[in-house]
Amino acid sequence: MVSRRAECTCGQLSATCEGEPLRVSVCHCLACKRRTGSAFGYSGWWREKDVTIAGRATEYVRIGDDGGHITSGFCPLCGAAIYTRNNGIPGVVGIPAGAFADLSFPPPTVSVYHESRGYRWLELHTEPLEKRG
Ligand SMILES: [Zn+2]
Ligand SMILES: [Zn+2]
Repeated sequence: MVSRRAECTCGQLSATCEGEPLRVSVCHCLACKRRTGSAFGYSGWWREKDVTIAGRATEYVRIGDDGGHITSGFCPLCGAAIYTRNNGIPGVVGIPAGAFADLSFPPPTVSVYHESRGYRWLELHTEPLEKRG
């Protein structure tokens, strides 16, 4: 079975993911733009049992538009986020795709907050996903 390891910039916080992701998505919400500092979030989602987090993480919890709690775990040394949990989608954990530093990482197939994709230069081949996460 394939195993992939995501790391923060300094390497002290990691997530090892077994098997293929359940879903690979992009999220165009404004909070993901702020979290990543980029145009959108790009994440793989796995079952909680298939992900092993190692190292120290600081967690930040924000309230999503639907009232759910969205928890981001980031490295207290370098600040890179390594996991996201949404209590509206229990049992799964999202790992930012870029943290794998693997150019063969699967492409996104769905986008969340599709209406906020915004940037005129951005062209992605993803379909809107009704359930937000
Ligand atoms: Zn770090
Ligand atoms: Zn988002």
